[in-house]
Amino acid sequence: MKLSKKILTWYDNNKRVLPWRISQTSKKNQYYRILSEFMLQQTQVKTVIPYFNNFVKKIPNLKALSKSNEKKILKLWEGLGYYTRAKNLHKTSKILVKKYNGLIPDSFEKLKELPGIGDYTANVLLALIYNQPRVAFDGNVKRVLSRVSNINTDKAVNLFKTKRNGDLAEALMEFGALVCKPKDPKCYECKINTMCAYYSSKSKIKFKRKIKIQSKSYDIFCYLKKSKKQIALTKSNDLGFLKKFNLPKIQKAAKKNKNWKFLCNYKNSISNKKLNLNLYYKFSSKIPSKYNWYSLNKNKEFIPSFTKKIFKQITHLY
Ligand code: SF4
Repeated sequence: MKLSKKILTWYDNNKRVLPWRISQTSKKNQYYRILSEFMLQQTQVKTVIPYFNNFVKKIPNLKALSKSNEKKILKLWEGLGYYTRAKNLHKTSKILVKKYNGLIPDSFEKLKELPGIGDYTANVLLALIYNQPRVAFDGNVKRVLSRVSNINTDKAVNLFKTKRNGDLAEALMEFGALVCKPKDPKCYECKINTMCAYYSSKSKIKFKRKIKIQSKSYDIFCYLKKSKKQIALTKSNDLGFLKKFNLPKIQKAAKKNKNWKFLCNYKNSISNKKLNLNLYYKFSSKIPSKYNWYSLNKNKEFIPSFTKKIFKQITHLY
């Protein structure tokens, strides 16, 4: 049996039931696929499922997405992180409705012109929606192919031939996630171990060692208005993360911060950055320009979860 057939047979018997895995002929397929692919960028399947289900309940199709306002979309995205994805998805939906009659184009070049769509997402959408013979190289697929063929991944694509291109693209990702895992691959029960270079050589291929992410230290300064339980936030910060979102003043950690009271130190992770945060505060009714007061309890504007964690730390001060 050919390699692609073996992987597809394994997939048919073992694939997970996921809400965006619906029939290629379903009217919802294009919307479900593009939405899930944006959500799955940098985020695990199990985290995405509840967000996806809630999102399609509130915004059921591409047209509705294109007409939604950004605040609503960011609210539905809240907690999923990497908010640029949500903004790009929104922009893309508008272009699709206006320029492509609400359909996802079937050309790699046209897809790549859309905000938030790179090589990987373009390939995966073409395979899943149009059954084009494309392999989307996410981390799982790269690992499977390099282990199986022991050659570089571009050439490894030639190992596969099938009419079920969409299923194969997904099967390879699923196989990498469930069987050919980064650590302790399930080689003994693997359906393709007789065809696998890694298994037959029993020599471990050297994979790039994961770069250990160093945590960075920042000082956060909160202006607080005691009488009204408010905090001053600004969208004008030039940090590399959470650009143009509502945040207090933040700067790289310095040794001394006179005039500010130290409250606590805590850790947070955002956009694959590990942050070591020192929180300072001062009560004041005057704030610098470009800052606005926000209530800790009620906000009409979108507040990222990074800032909400700060709210939690300071709430007892009032
Ligand atoms: S035999 Fe092991 S290394 Fe090879 S494809 Fe199967 S799980 Fe991966």
